[in-house]
Amino acid sequence: MVGWARVRSRNGPHPGESMNPEPRTASDLTTEAHALALDAADPLARFRDRFYLPPGTIYLDGNSLGLLSRDAEATTLSALEQWKRLGIGGWLEAEPPWFTLGEELGALLAPLVGAGPDEVVVTGTTTVNLHALVATFYQPAGRRRKIVATGLDFPSDVYALGNQIRLRGGDPGSDLVLVASRDGRTVAEADIVAAMSDEVALVLLPSVLYRSGQLLDLAALAAAARERGIPIGFDCAHSAGAVPHQFDEWGIDFACWCSYKYLNAGPGSVGGLYVNRRHFGTIPGLAGWWGYQKERQFDMRHDWEGAAGAGAWQISTPPVLATAPLLGSLRIFAEAGIDRLRAKSLTQTGYLIDLVTMLGLTAPEIGYRIGTPRDPARRGGHVALEHDAGARIGRALKARGVVPDFRPPDVIRLAPIPLYTSYHDLWRVAGLLRDIIETGEFRRFGDGRDLVA
Ligand SMILES: *Cc1c(COP(=O)(O)O)cnc(C)c1O
Repeated sequence: MVGWARVRSRNGPHPGESMNPEPRTASDLTTEAHALALDAADPLARFRDRFYLPPGTIYLDGNSLGLLSRDAEATTLSALEQWKRLGIGGWLEAEPPWFTLGEELGALLAPLVGAGPDEVVVTGTTTVNLHALVATFYQPAGRRRKIVATGLDFPSDVYALGNQIRLRGGDPGSDLVLVASRDGRTVAEADIVAAMSDEVALVLLPSVLYRSGQLLDLAALAAAARERGIPIGFDCAHSAGAVPHQFDEWGIDFACWCSYKYLNAGPGSVGGLYVNRRHFGTIPGLAGWWGYQKERQFDMRHDWEGAAGAGAWQISTPPVLATAPLLGSLRIFAEAGIDRLRAKSLTQTGYLIDLVTMLGLTAPEIGYRIGTPRDPARRGGHVALEHDAGARIGRALKARGVVPDFRPPDVIRLAPIPLYTSYHDLWRVAGLLRDIIETGEFRRFGDGRDLVA
């Protein structure tokens, strides 16, 4: 088990970070004109009008709850309308029919994660899907009883893994291996691979660490696990809709994610899961009638005949109204293209990091630290800006109309969303980050986190 290593605040700026509080005037990259030029040249800028941006705010929390699009609104209203008009007939007559909604939306989502249409199903929520998949793929036997995860995991995943171990009569204290971070921000792939011993029955990792935004090398980790004969799954809550994946090509066994973060399908909307086709036919660990062979589901037989694809991992009747926004949202992703979105996301997070360093915000007297890897290949969709007064700064930003979020002990997360965040937004935020410190404005706000941070 790992503690939260507090080595960072003592380390000060990292190599390559500016020690100079003055702007590097040689560069015009920090000017407002440059921000506006980037927006003018942005081929995805037009998507901003498709979203409801909270008035008077710069919204940088789309990694926690994405904004509503007109498209998602339309498909939601349409679902209500069809319920009104069709009643129970909607199971087969709605567009798309509710009976196969999970499969249909799964096929639309599959290109975002590099999967076949029948390997993805829209169902459940992240933690529930994690339980369903771990209950299937965690098969402790003999000496192989351990699950490998990381010391920087999202807590829900750790709770779920611990419980799954207990359900198999194990002890999470010895069977749950949380690979330690060396710097408190990131987890080294080599350390994860080193933990893949012959006592390991399952590896379950985040694709992107929720706090620092580190993107793990999924391909390399999957290859290492396969070499050792260990099933490997990923929680992609922080990458689905932000980072393209190639699940099939990488040969990962399973994955799950939510759709309320980068996929913009609304609070508590339905998540997704992936099962590699080599596991089709495996009996799901948490079976339910919605995973039954669709043609025979209403035969109401008591013997199990699972659906042929990932649909077998559905448990219950889909919450149609909570699924409806995803249909509209996925149309936007199909139009914009996940590769173009990723390219803009990297340019935007890179631009924000550059502004922070070039404007001197990482100088000791200003005190910001960049917690996100500089290497674009190791960066997810958000920038983790650390500051000892992070909670106060988060509140000061909100008072100035910027919506970030805060993760203890010191991380301000800023997520430029390529569908609706402009470069000019980021330029303004960088200036505010500096003003809030220089004027002492942040001291007017309380420390500690809110009930929902
Ligand atoms: C957001 C997130 C969750 C949330 O789980 P829910 O079951 O959707 O509430 C779980 N795991 C990770 C890694 C997340 O980022």
